[in-house]
Amino acid sequence: MIQSKLPNVGTTIFTTMSQLAVQTGAINLSQGFPDFDGPQALREAVGHHVMAGHNQYSPMTGLPALREQIARKIARSYGRQVDMDEEITITPGATEAIFCALQALVRPGDEVIVLDPCYDSYEPSVELAGGRCVHVPLALPDFSIDWQRLADALSPRTRLIILNSPHNPSGALLSRDELEQLARLIRGSDIYLVSDEVYEHLIYDGARHASVLAHEELYARAFVVSSFGKTYHVTGWKTGYVVAPPALSAELRKVHQFVAFCGVSPLQWALADYMAACPEHVDELPAFYQAKRDLFCDLLAGSRFTFTRAPGTYFQLADYSAIRDDLDDVEMSLWLTREHGVATIPVSVFYQSPPAGLRLVRFCFAKREETLRQAAEKLCRV
Ligand code: PMP
Ligand code: GLN
Repeated sequence: MIQSKLPNVGTTIFTTMSQLAVQTGAINLSQGFPDFDGPQALREAVGHHVMAGHNQYSPMTGLPALREQIARKIARSYGRQVDMDEEITITPGATEAIFCALQALVRPGDEVIVLDPCYDSYEPSVELAGGRCVHVPLALPDFSIDWQRLADALSPRTRLIILNSPHNPSGALLSRDELEQLARLIRGSDIYLVSDEVYEHLIYDGARHASVLAHEELYARAFVVSSFGKTYHVTGWKTGYVVAPPALSAELRKVHQFVAFCGVSPLQWALADYMAACPEHVDELPAFYQAKRDLFCDLLAGSRFTFTRAPGTYFQLADYSAIRDDLDDVEMSLWLTREHGVATIPVSVFYQSPPAGLRLVRFCFAKREETLRQAAEKLCRV
């Protein structure tokens, strides 16, 4: 018998629900991915670079032309000048970036604070490094940080805190004031941060993303992670990056070079071309996704689900207690998928201990108008 290093890990909810959607023919609003393609010029650029022979390893830290574009975008969006050679590392997906950051810093016996509900890759990555997650629930109903609980969770063993804004699954945003409050809380400690900002450009109603990159004091101890998958509608490309001060980047790279060594070369070439040709892509994303969110929410207004519009991400939470209060959210997701033809994600799976009576499911609205209309029509009949 193998003694598992991850005895509590099974198949992820994303795989489970997407498989069930396929088996049942349900509209898949569960796993987060668009049902439309990324920009045509970007996809054509991949073909071009594959045919042009850009098919061998890229540098371990990432293609210089792409790191240069990322540095420009960071200067434009957050006003920070980062050194593309010392501070930016391109990775095969944000997931690998987070994994490498955690492996680089977390030692056996260390504690890592995660704010529940949290993304499912954090805890196994901490555990493989020999650390332990300390789960601090976000405050309902708006999924904001409960400062007292966070302060109470800090200990001499706290090595790192993982932030995620815009937040999956709730869509909540951290404000500049909250970053300031966090800075005050950990000032004088040697606690590091992983700031998962993969949805940095999916932010609505005129809000601005409060990036750790724009916060001098927090950035000095942070790994800031992003994903091209979200920004360019190409989740299957699994290409992301991490920005961190030189000393932290150096430690992360020691891990990254033996996990993946480098990202996929022709994708990096294509992304570099596209970012140079179309820097406005990221500025157009809020309006693009806000229109989808609003269409979906307007249609869902005719249903018995209740919700507050998501401030960010491409996820919309909805409370179903007026429909089937007798079902927990996993049962509800299965029931909606099997009986009503719309696959969703239960929110409780992102918690260590879900709040009693939580009746929330997550819908992904990164879908064509036609898909959203068909799904909403079904949901209005529930
Ligand atoms: N963090 C969060 C919060 C996510 O939702 C995702 C999307 N799967 C990731 C990280 C991972 O991104 P990637 O697909 O680039 O690894
Ligand atoms: N980030 C995606 C989500 O939250 C799923 C990614 C995955 O399947 N690993 O739906």
